[in-house]
Order: sequence, then C-alpha cells, then structure tokens
Amino acid sequence: MIRENIRNIAIIAHVDHGKTTLVDEMLKQSGTFRSNEYIEERVMDSNDLEKERGITILSKNTSITYNGVKINVVDTPGHADFGGEVERIMQMVDGVLLLVDAFEGPMPQTRFVLKKALASGLKPVVVINKIDRPEARIEEVLDEVLDLFIDLDADEEQLEFPVIYASAKQGIAKYEVTDTNEDMIPLLDTILEEVPAPEGILEDGLQLRISSIDYDKYVGRIAIGKISRGSIKKNQEVVLCSGDGSLKNFRVSKLYTFKGLKKEEVNDAAFGEIVALSGNDDMNIGETICSTDKIDPLPFIKIDEPTLAMNFIVNDSPFAGREGNFVTSRQLKERLEKELLSNVALRVEETDSSDVFKVSGRGELHLSILIENMRREGYELSVSRPEVILKKIDGSLCEPMEQVIIEVPEEYMGIVIETLGQRKGEMTNMTHNINGTVKLEFMIPARGLIGYRSQFMTDTRGNGILNHIFAGYEPFKGEIPSRTKGSLVAFETGTAVTYGLYNAQDRGKLFIGAGTEVYEGMIVGENARSGDIVVNVCKRKQLTNIRASGSDDAMKLTPPIQMSLEQALEFIAEDELVEVTPKSIRLRKKILN
Ligand code: GDP
Repeated sequence: MIRENIRNIAIIAHVDHGKTTLVDEMLKQSGTFRSNEYIEERVMDSNDLEKERGITILSKNTSITYNGVKINVVDTPGHADFGGEVERIMQMVDGVLLLVDAFEGPMPQTRFVLKKALASGLKPVVVINKIDRPEARIEEVLDEVLDLFIDLDADEEQLEFPVIYASAKQGIAKYEVTDTNEDMIPLLDTILEEVPAPEGILEDGLQLRISSIDYDKYVGRIAIGKISRGSIKKNQEVVLCSGDGSLKNFRVSKLYTFKGLKKEEVNDAAFGEIVALSGNDDMNIGETICSTDKIDPLPFIKIDEPTLAMNFIVNDSPFAGREGNFVTSRQLKERLEKELLSNVALRVEETDSSDVFKVSGRGELHLSILIENMRREGYELSVSRPEVILKKIDGSLCEPMEQVIIEVPEEYMGIVIETLGQRKGEMTNMTHNINGTVKLEFMIPARGLIGYRSQFMTDTRGNGILNHIFAGYEPFKGEIPSRTKGSLVAFETGTAVTYGLYNAQDRGKLFIGAGTEVYEGMIVGENARSGDIVVNVCKRKQLTNIRASGSDDAMKLTPPIQMSLEQALEFIAEDELVEVTPKSIRLRKKILN
C-alpha cells in the first residue's frame, strides 16, 4: 500500500539562505494556518543561539497540508553532528530540499549533511532562493550545486535533480526564471511529484524508531519518529526495544501527529507518518518501538560517546548574585537533569561536592552551546577547563581520537596544517575543490582540539569550516596533567594589589571555558593578612579596569580570567596552600612572579 497523502522531507540550507521564510510562506499559501498563529511561533529557528552560530542543534517538525497531502518537514542541523542526529533524520524522510542562496551559492557548512542525504539515497530537489536579489548569479550557482553533487558522489538519478527558482520573501517559486506565476505552487507540486510517498503494509506489526526526544512537564518524555511499518493506536500496548537488547512493555498514553507548527493529538496513525508519543519515561533516541506480536527492532543508531568533560560549578563567590542571578546547586542540578532529557550525547555526574557537577559531551562546541544557553537563562556558573575523558581498555590507558574535516580557502591551508600538526594532528587527506577551497582531513587526539575552534576562527578569519567525528580510542600518548602548571603574579588595580595566575605553558593565557569564547575574569586578593594571598572566586563584572603591572609583558596581554576554586587549585602547588574554603584559597606566601 502506498500512502499517497503523505510526503516526508528534510530541508538542508545554510543559515540565512531563507529556510524559515520559505517554510512560513509554504504554510501560509497552503492555508495550513491562521496567519497570526505562525508569526508567534517560528519554530524552525526558535533557538537564538543556533542562529548566531549558524548552526541548528535540535531538529524540529513542521507539516504543510497541500492538496490533501501532508508534507512533513524535518529541519536538519546545518553543521556539527552531536550524536548521529543527521543520520536519524535522513532515515525519517524520503526526499530533501536543498535550499541555496542565488548569490552566495552552496556553502561548505551544508556539505556534511548533504553528503549524508545523498549517501542515504535520497533524491534532492534544489531550490535556488533569493532570485530577486539584484546580484543573483542563478546559472553559476546552479553549476556550483551540480559540481558539489558530483564531488559528493551523487548517483546518476540524484544528478538529475529538479530545480525550482524561488523568492521566498515574495512568496514565489517557479519552474523557470522567466515564469510569471506569483505563488509557491510549483514548489509544492514538485515535492508531491518528486518525493516518493511512503510504502508499506498497514496490517504489519508496528515498527517505529525514535529519532528525537522531547519533554513536556505534563506528559513527560515524548518520543518522535517515523512509523516505518504497521500502525499505532492511543492506549495500545507496545514494546520498547532498548539499545542494550532489553524489552519493556508500555501503554501509549498520548499520540500526536504534526499539524503546521503544532502537535495535534490523534487516536491512531499508520506507517509513513511522523508521530510523537508518550507513555514511557525511559524511551531513548535510536531505540525502536514495536507491537507486542512482532518484536523486530531496527538497528540501534549508536550515539557517540562523550569525549570531553567539564565541571559546572555553582558560582557562590562573595560577588556572585549581586545582579539577582543567584543559583543554588539544586537549581543547577534540575537544569542539567532537564537538559539530559533531550540532549542525548550529554552525561552528567555528581561529584564529591554538591556544588560541582561533571558534565561530559561531544566536544567543546557541544558543551559551550549548553553553557551559553544556561548563561542566557540567568544561570551563574563557573566552568572548569575541559578535559578529555581517558578510558582503560584491556588494561592500558586510552584516549579518544577525532577525525577532523576542515574546509578553508587555499590561502589558509598552511596555517591550519601547521597548527594542527603542533596539536598532534596527522593529515590523512587533502582535496582541492573547484571553488578555490581545500578540504583537509586529520586524525587527532581529542585533547588536541581543546581550544582549537576559536583559534581556527581567528586563523581563517571566520572563513573556515570545522567538523569533527569521534574516531575511536587509541593508547594515550599525552602527559598526565599535573596540578602545578602556573605561578601567581601580581596586578595593580590602582587601589590595591591583587593577584592573578600566570600560566607559562599557554604563553600567559589561561584558556578557560569552551568553544569560541574565552571567559574573562581573574582572581583577586581580598582581606589578605600580611604575607597571605587570599584568592577569591569572582565575577568578571568586578574586574574591569585592571591594569597589569610588573615586568612581565606577557601579563599585559593576558585578559582577566574568571576562575572557580577548582580551577585555581589546579594551578597552585600543594605546599603553597594554607586553607581552602568554598569562597577562597589562602596561600602560604606572597609570590611575585
Ligand atoms: P534561515 O536562516 O535560512 O531560516 O533564513 P531566513 O528565512 O530567516 O532568511 C534570512 C534572511 O534572508 C531574512 O532577512 C529574509 O528576509 C531574507 N530572505 C529570505 N528569502 C529571501 C528571498 O527570497 N529574497 C531576498 N531578497 N531575501 C530573502
């Protein structure tokens, strides 16, 4: 049986190429929504941060009903892959829309996702958007898309992709640039014609692999996925087939399909449909839900394990909370627990201190997105320096390796190769692309990537693309970190002498925090008895206008550094310590440089 009234597609687009505008316009013209409803909730870009960084982290579902056919639209992450997400999305859909700006052309960021889409055998529909732009170079951009497809090993059928010329902004999509229609109908019709409708047997046993997880405080955990076989009913007893092979029966308490930008409760749904359901709070991404009479799970899509850990520390310094943002350890714990419900590649562990949580994830970008989101929500927290997660395998200490895929204009190739070489990366492949960029592949210990993303952005003036994929464990060849890496130096602030840490290893800079951001702040001496140094953990707000003094030029270049006690302790030799309290560290003697 073919479900002619359903199409499932994913949209692949570089940020700002017009995905949100296009989807809004399709919704509007297909009459799926009252116009005021969709303006309130532009789901496709609901996370500010994603927009700023040019990446989509969570995939979202929308559906458009046109000519009696429901088109489920799944958003794709435009960039890094945190735990097999792209693969799971590609298995939910039967076609992809590649949306490309008529001036900018295809951007390397979308390459990764597009490659997975083509490798999954999906047929692309190419939409050249923003044809109204005066500088549009439509023909050239189309050639660039073709080159890209060839480069990504598209098969013959995929190379014969249909093309739609659009101005999402004007609500127009056309078969030919010269056409004079003023609607999106050609695009909607093309989706219906080109994307295959789901095929299956209705009477077969249910099979649904969970592609993403959502959470609702009233109904609990919600699993989202495509029904690949059979059908499902509300209140039906089903079996959750976990990644470890265990089985657990549960009753479907709520069942939804997507309508426009919202979930709509339904009583039943059949194969080909993308649904959301609740009834079991242990459901996880990659697991399959089956009917009790035919337990036949799809292969579990492995979620990459975390490779990098950081401590998240309640900021209870004497200065914290002055802006009314005080956060207790219970609040921090609750926030992290909530995050775990949908952020599948994340791990959170409690530590000996109730104020400190060890948070592990898929690299600095993954963790820094969480930190930034939390800071925006008003969580005052300190974070420790990221550390790679070492693992004992067959008795020997091993470290995570990453495959790094970089795309840069040729002029930056030298600096990238040199810097990654210094960071113990080994180049495994190099390809010159037609457009003057070069694709470089490296194998590197995950520790070599710490702090690299921001350096890469500086080195390539923001023109480079960096992706990395977990590539297994290898025997650890690095140095076991020691606690005494820096020395204390003095600053003069005008009113008092205060103290900061100087880390000779990183040429005077302490890289704390993650991702592209180096968090600022420093350690200030306060209430010091003569001869002591009291190091307080404090916020960056109090630390402006600090003038570096002394002979060490490197210090002048060092921005103030914000530290938690834990971090500070890492840089202080044990024989220097007198007392450690939650708010300060007292040191035996005053050390000047
Ligand atoms: P997204 O990041 O891919 O979701 O992009 P948006 O839909 O938010 O669009 C990014 C910007 O491009 C916005 O300022 C839009 O108004 C603009 N835009 C979208 N489509 C078009 C178009 O067809 N023509 C022109 N000139 N601008 C467009």
